[in-house]
Amino acid sequence: MSRSPSDRTRLIRSATRKPTEGRRPVNPPIERASTLLNPSASTLRDPSLGPVYGIDGMTVQHELRALIAEMEGAIDAWLTPTGLAAVTIPLLALTRPGDTVVATDAAYGPSRRFLDRHMAARGVTTRYHPADATTDQIIGAMDGAKLLLIESPASLTFEMIDVPAVAAAAREKGVLTVMDNTWAAGLAFRPLAHGVDVSVQAISKYAAGHSDLLMGAVAVSDARIGKAIFNTIEDMGWHTAPDEAWLALRGLRTLPLRMNEHARSALQVAAWLQDRPEVARVLYPPLPGSVGHDLWARDYAGAAGLMGVVFNGGSEADAEALLDALTLFGLGYSWGGFESLATHETSQMTLRRHAPALKGPLIRLHIGLEDPADLMADLDQALTGWRSRSYPA
Ligand SMILES: *Cc1c(COP(=O)(O)O)cnc(C)c1O
Repeated sequence: MSRSPSDRTRLIRSATRKPTEGRRPVNPPIERASTLLNPSASTLRDPSLGPVYGIDGMTVQHELRALIAEMEGAIDAWLTPTGLAAVTIPLLALTRPGDTVVATDAAYGPSRRFLDRHMAARGVTTRYHPADATTDQIIGAMDGAKLLLIESPASLTFEMIDVPAVAAAAREKGVLTVMDNTWAAGLAFRPLAHGVDVSVQAISKYAAGHSDLLMGAVAVSDARIGKAIFNTIEDMGWHTAPDEAWLALRGLRTLPLRMNEHARSALQVAAWLQDRPEVARVLYPPLPGSVGHDLWARDYAGAAGLMGVVFNGGSEADAEALLDALTLFGLGYSWGGFESLATHETSQMTLRRHAPALKGPLIRLHIGLEDPADLMADLDQALTGWRSRSYPA
């Protein structure tokens, strides 16, 4: 084949491989196993016969790992029980007591809790840079550090980091880089190709795509770092169930199509919201004028449907009433499924050292695969209610 296949093709072609013998279904079997039986005593520990024990993973986990590694441009990828574990495993694997980690002040809340509680108790200190720090400030903050945890766009406020510049500076200083790439789903942005050492994402979000499982993935481009990651997974005894790996593999086949639709609808909704008088700012890097737009336009090939909306005044109670008035948005955590979701997030800002000054409440929207015209009609009726409550005549 003369052209290199696009993502849509690459995520499907492994399913159509011709069987080496006989026929086989398109999708791998779900093999539930702890014990695997051997032909004879002499083969009990023979790795050439495949997994020795269920924890090594069966066909479906291996196919999923290979597909994620291909998508990420990695030499290898591992599955983790949750997206959070995909963040914590490299932090555990690559630091020792006395080390310093640098992270954005806008890091995903549970990652931050892990740094502040578990890592601090192990003698690893975290230095938080402001979410809107300049590239030079982030590079300066890495002096003497062991590892930089990158999250771009950042959680809830969507600031972007110049990843190629920061990763190159980290290499020069001997600082390892781990990027939580959940927003880009390993597809809209490829951290390893931009010099990042470890790319992690919550498979629970877009790869799974249907809000029905929890899983994470860790991808690497360096064998030594990979070995440290694998050893930690093995030492901790972490495993991912075949049923969930099967669902995630099914989800990945259609990831590029779904993400394109999420991104297309989200940009329409974001632009419409930005023009509303009730809205102070839409935090969505693909939207021209949004925080992070220039870096997104330079480095990203696509986008998620997740955005922040900052209101023009109003109270937390007004924001709750607005969410209650929505009829097409579910109220709940996580995102990346087919359905639209909304949460209010102002209270999360109190966790930050350098909290941003917001004009009003902050809500988070995930734009699902519904018709965006219907979503805007729903937001319109809820915003009309907001006007009568928050701006009385
Ligand atoms: C959701 C999320 C995670 C964690 O994923 P889970 O599978 O829910 O544990 C990690 N990082 C980011 C940025 C997320 O949005």
